[in-house]
Amino acid sequence: MIDKDFFLGFIKVHILYHASKEEIYGVEILDELRRHGYSLSPGTLYPTLHLLEKQSCLKSRRETVNGKVRKYYSITPEGLEILEKSKIKIRELVEEVLE
Ligand SMILES: [Zn+2]
Repeated sequence: MIDKDFFLGFIKVHILYHASKEEIYGVEILDELRRHGYSLSPGTLYPTLHLLEKQSCLKSRRETVNGKVRKYYSITPEGLEILEKSKIKIRELVEEVLE
């Protein structure tokens, strides 16, 4: 599906943004993205989280919640830098496309 690839960049920005506000975990971010109209499957989200971690934009820790291991992600200094750069590009894009 073309949408998935095309919107993946937007989705990454959402993830970094929320991870910059508080720790996030998979199911929660799926709900948040659905609220924004992105119907994402866990099969797309989890590899994206792993990739962002591999690229040093996110870091994770594990915690056991109700007997299940949950992976919490938070933003790194590198992730914050990308997020700030994205904001500049988003502003420029909005000014042109939504004028
Ligand atoms: Zn959001």
